[in-house]
Amino acid sequence: MDEYRESHPNNEFLADVFRKAIEYLNSLSGANVGISPSKEKLFSMIDTELPEHGVSPAAAMKSLIDGVENGLIRSGSPRYFGFVIGGSTPVSIAADWLTTAWDQNAQAYGTSPAAAVMEEVVAKWLLELLGLPESASVGFVTGAQMANFTALAVARNKVLKDHGWDFDAEGLQDSPHLRVLCSASCHGTVRSAIRLMGLGRKNIETVETDKQGRIETKEFKRTLGAYSGPTIVCVQAGNVNTGAFDPIADIADLSRASGAWLHVDGAFGMWAAASPSLKHLVAGVELADSWATDAHKWLNVPYDSGLVIVRQPETHLKLKVEQCAYVGTTQVGHRNGSEWVPENSRRARGFVLYASLRCLGKNGVRRIVENSCEMARLFATELVKLPGVEVLNQVVLNQLLFRIIPTSVTENNDVHASVAKRIQQTGVCWLGTTQWAGQTVLRISVSNWATTAADVRRSVECIREAIENERETTANIG
Ligand SMILES: *Cc1c(COP(=O)(O)O)cnc(C)c1O
Repeated sequence: MDEYRESHPNNEFLADVFRKAIEYLNSLSGANVGISPSKEKLFSMIDTELPEHGVSPAAAMKSLIDGVENGLIRSGSPRYFGFVIGGSTPVSIAADWLTTAWDQNAQAYGTSPAAAVMEEVVAKWLLELLGLPESASVGFVTGAQMANFTALAVARNKVLKDHGWDFDAEGLQDSPHLRVLCSASCHGTVRSAIRLMGLGRKNIETVETDKQGRIETKEFKRTLGAYSGPTIVCVQAGNVNTGAFDPIADIADLSRASGAWLHVDGAFGMWAAASPSLKHLVAGVELADSWATDAHKWLNVPYDSGLVIVRQPETHLKLKVEQCAYVGTTQVGHRNGSEWVPENSRRARGFVLYASLRCLGKNGVRRIVENSCEMARLFATELVKLPGVEVLNQVVLNQLLFRIIPTSVTENNDVHASVAKRIQQTGVCWLGTTQWAGQTVLRISVSNWATTAADVRRSVECIREAIENERETTANIG
């Protein structure tokens, strides 16, 4: 290390890496979105014995870059339509770099006063943007999985408390039965959160949905029944396949009347609130008791960045009653970020959110959201023009499902997986498959700030060719 310090007095090698990063970012709109070599090839590039003696930082970085370069999916590309990934705006990348250089621990006011104040300011902005009560509390977590988990853990403690059970002291041993109602099409991370909370998969009560993956109010009413014991209800703002929204306002009224806790999983869909023309989709969202959302999806900040929001801060604060002795209570009246989330030491994610929101403004966020939806609608318009292609959902947001109508030569489901593979191998764009209504279908999510109509048209052309090639190959085999 002494040798290192002497040979790098000003960390100048960082500037070389910085240039590499910019080169990568500039390549994102280029042709190759995601061609991956085999796992074996990647291991052969990366795997070595743990070295006894190290190399220079520059040499280590060269190994890193050479090792992964061909294994990266360019998910920041404007033509990456897999999952719901979102890119990173330049300002968010810049703030993320500085967050790393500053290396603040956002656990408490005492470990980083700037990070603590930043979280308070950003929380206020986010609540306004998402149309949530300004008195709600916000915790900064890794993503919607952790946000769902945190919110549901707060909910569990509160509804049991309301029924005379102290979860903190007693745990779940012999506790009153706790009901959890979720939609049949809720996100897997909601189910995982319920399992992590110790409530058990078998205890999840499923509310059936319509063809768009939405809960129907009458179906919810029927499932909820007359029970007034401890109950948590999970609804969805933005189905991960169709983008559809549960009828949050109706469910909020019914939940409140029965004393149930209402949680909204709105990983990306809650950002519809930023657009006057889409806001109606989240009507009633402000009536819930807790919310989970992501910034790393639609706000287009780098991984990872999620938000857990709770209506009653005093309930949220009961999540973690233990304090590390050395953090102490001397900072009362100051924000200790770790009190609102499961983690203790944490990255100062507030810096990136601050710079992003400062740069975009309400209008900029609105434009990202509206453009994504407009591009999804353009996809729908163009895809239905292709012979034998059917769009399966109402494109209410940024998500689109489509299928290739089976013919005698493409009669099985596998055609979708192999078309997806063909598309991915072109490197022109990236999209994947999903399971919908018992079928494998193709899925598009537009969530990158930079996607243009030209990107969509180029991608549709690529999809058209992939389907045609698949049909030809299948016909020849048949
Ligand atoms: C992506 C997503 C999640 C999980 O979010 P992570 O950020 O991956 O933890 C949960 N719910 C919905 C609806 C999502 O789209």
